[in-house]
Amino acid sequence: MEVIGRFQDHTYVNWLKAGQALLCTAEGLYEFCEQPIKQYHRDLHTKYPRKPCKGHCQEKHPCTVCSDRRQVWKKDVLSQLAAQARPCWKNTDMAKYEADPWEIAKLCMGRGDDEGRTSAVTTDPIGLLQLVLNCRLFDNYVSARQSFVKVRE
Ligand SMILES: [Zn+2]
Repeated sequence: MEVIGRFQDHTYVNWLKAGQALLCTAEGLYEFCEQPIKQYHRDLHTKYPRKPCKGHCQEKHPCTVCSDRRQVWKKDVLSQLAAQARPCWKNTDMAKYEADPWEIAKLCMGRGDDEGRTSAVTTDPIGLLQLVLNCRLFDNYVSARQSFVKVRE
């Protein structure tokens, strides 16, 4: 079918509209997704104040103080996963948790463009839906959880 003909095909046009609707929905979710994650990130900093680094600390080979801190953060972050959720470690870099709240959010998403996902705005709509479904921080804000599941599928 030629390109012009495609736009006269109602099924094709409806798929385009559905894709556009999904993008519009995602735009509406940006703030909704980022605020709880940013607040949780601030809470982590308050809950686990930084202790002085022993020095000679590298991202891949942290000192014992920084390594212990990462483990404490990891344990807390994992406690925020919903019961059915499985963390996607390939999406995220634990060494960046202290500096970047969205690294924590990415743990709750399925495999995706982990380098390109730097905020809600740069995360695909399915990633945002997975975050809402897989992260307990959203439990108080989502009553129609099943609707999110349907859209994701
Ligand atoms: Zn250190």
